Amino acid sequence: AEDQLRQAQKMEAVGQLTGGIAHDFNNLLTGIIGSIDILRRRIAAGRTDDLDRFFEAAVGSAHRAAGLTHRLLAFSRRQSLDLRPIDVDALIAGMGDLLHRTLGEQIRLQVVRHDGTWPAQGDPNQTESALLNFAINARDAMPDGGTLTIAAANVTLDETAALRIGTTPGDYVVLRVIDTGIGMEKDVLERVFDPFFTTKPIGQGTGLGLSMAYGYAKQARGHLQVDSAVGRGTTVTLYLPRADAPAVPAAPIETSAAPADG
Ligand code: ADP
Repeated sequence: AEDQLRQAQKMEAVGQLTGGIAHDFNNLLTGIIGSIDILRRRIAAGRTDDLDRFFEAAVGSAHRAAGLTHRLLAFSRRQSLDLRPIDVDALIAGMGDLLHRTLGEQIRLQVVRHDGTWPAQGDPNQTESALLNFAINARDAMPDGGTLTIAAANVTLDETAALRIGTTPGDYVVLRVIDTGIGMEKDVLERVFDPFFTTKPIGQGTGLGLSMAYGYAKQARGHLQVDSAVGRGTTVTLYLPRADAPAVPAAPIETSAAPADG
């Protein structure tokens, strides 16, 4: 019964939050209609100077609305995964430029590598998107600068360790994204995997980053763990199962096409 109650509460939260998204979407549509209406009147009245800003406002709102639906679709689609052995160190190295650009100059990026990381069984694009989302969250949590550490490691979970974090025993490759930011209060930490949960202002956060990453991790038979201490920082750990074949040094992955989604 307690489970059912929790489920009902979750559904209610999802309902409220999808309502919020519909509200944002509606505001954008109102803006587009308003701009086009002004354009029509002005053109009809022969006032063709200074039309650019109304065109730009309409196009800008349309793009933002498209971005919103795109993210919702990506979330609801439950994309089929392209699972294959990944060389995670190469994947992280390949994201270097993108990460530097994302983090800006105030945040130091530290990549901890070690030889002999196992190949991970995952989807390279989804793994990159997840890491990019973690990095964006970390950046947002360090407005006055700090250090972002990305570390890959081999981890073997026995029964007890697996039970403790809620996954199955076995060999995993873990990717840790560690920040020295503001951290999270308990009530935030409890909700980070809820779709649409965000503490960011409208337009900046979708509340889908961590829930999508969690969905990906579970679909890939891995796990996602978030640990945080207020005022000290946050560690996000993505577990991917160890692949039983070596990674093919594949064609370069398009890092620049990854969605810059918070
Ligand atoms: P979004 O970034 O769009 O808000 P996420 O699902 O990625 O959506 O994150 C949900 C919330 O979790 C954020 O709004 C923020 O409050 C919190 N959060 C996530 N990552 C961090 C972090 N590294 N440090 C502090 N808070 C975080």
